[in-house]
Amino acid sequence: MPGTELFGPEEKREVNDVLETGILFRYGHASERQNICKSQDFESEVKRFTGAKFSHAVSSGSAAILAALSASGVGYNDEVIVPPFTFIATIEAVLMLGAIPVFAEIDETLCLSAKGIQDAITERTKAVCLVHMCGIAADMDPILEVIQNNNLILIEDAGQAYGATYKGTFTGLFGKAGAYSFDFFKIATAAEGGVAVTNDEETYKLIDTFTDHGHTHIGKVRGMEDHPILGFNFRISELHSAIGLVQARRVPEIIKLNKRNKSILQEILSDIKGINFSHVPDKDGDTATFLNILCPDKEFAQKVNKELGKTSIGGYNYWFENKYHFISNWEHLKNLKFPSTMAINKQDIPQDYNNLPLNDSTNIMSRLISFGIRCAISEDNVKKLGEDIAKVFNNI
Ligand SMILES: *Cc1c(COP(=O)(O)O)cnc(C)c1O
Repeated sequence: MPGTELFGPEEKREVNDVLETGILFRYGHASERQNICKSQDFESEVKRFTGAKFSHAVSSGSAAILAALSASGVGYNDEVIVPPFTFIATIEAVLMLGAIPVFAEIDETLCLSAKGIQDAITERTKAVCLVHMCGIAADMDPILEVIQNNNLILIEDAGQAYGATYKGTFTGLFGKAGAYSFDFFKIATAAEGGVAVTNDEETYKLIDTFTDHGHTHIGKVRGMEDHPILGFNFRISELHSAIGLVQARRVPEIIKLNKRNKSILQEILSDIKGINFSHVPDKDGDTATFLNILCPDKEFAQKVNKELGKTSIGGYNYWFENKYHFISNWEHLKNLKFPSTMAINKQDIPQDYNNLPLNDSTNIMSRLISFGIRCAISEDNVKKLGEDIAKVFNNI
């Protein structure tokens, strides 16, 4: 949780600014707020850093994905290609719109592959919701080619990838719209929060209105603005934005520290026989929040996971067996336990979620152990950690 590792007086100061005026709401109250609007500052920081033309802060990364998909025109009965390795929010957002998640293969980048996308396209495919997992941008050039050749809409779930780039472009900005998460576990946190980004003004307007009951936020006093569409409340509070603002500003420093620590760790672990690291298409653009190790086979990875559990080494994930990140453990999805908001006709789902032909993804995930990189840890302690991890692997 790198963002929360660096948490200090600046966060308190920005929150205090808000508490001083007592205006915890981001809209209106022009005279009382004394020009303080941390939500706008948070959005400006995201624009400044990523180069996005438009950004909009909301209550969560999940809400940002939902808004990005909705503003891009994804809706009832549209097929949306998604990866089987992600946080479940990606899938839920698609379903919330009445659209249908269609799972495609990932490759050793841990993200959807161009071939996986190509193979999953049908005549009902409207969009791809690409997820940049583990702080690493997907292999964009071939993916963009498939997207363009098939006239699909690209939406990016960059929930884990704020600050990640591919050939100089920030994740979230390759397609129609993108979403970052600033929840408690991400590279930077607002406690809870998310930011949607886009370079397209119309899409931005739809995101802005959708996430506040359709209000346009233009001119007129609060309550008297136009509301061209219906929406919902996905607003962020000024208190959350105050923290998100400071944390977003810390990201370049966090990435620098992460990179140093990841390379020390990777150097030590590269001596282990038989393992590989996940493929990072653009190493310069890595946020270095995770070091991903691919074991020779599933049995090996399961043993490593078990042995790590006996040590004091924390901060690792065997995603294949946790309940949040890989489809094999999403019982609720596999059993189609949809709440009434997910108005899906079950016959319209073209795939059997219990029996998906995802051999590559399953193979990769069964072999993957990811180590979260901490930024506020000394070089000596990273080295010690590396040696402790190497010991576990070498004893399998
Ligand atoms: C964290 C995360 C989300 C959801 O973000 P929240 O802010 O927790 O709603 C979505 N997608 C991915 C890939 C994530 O890691």
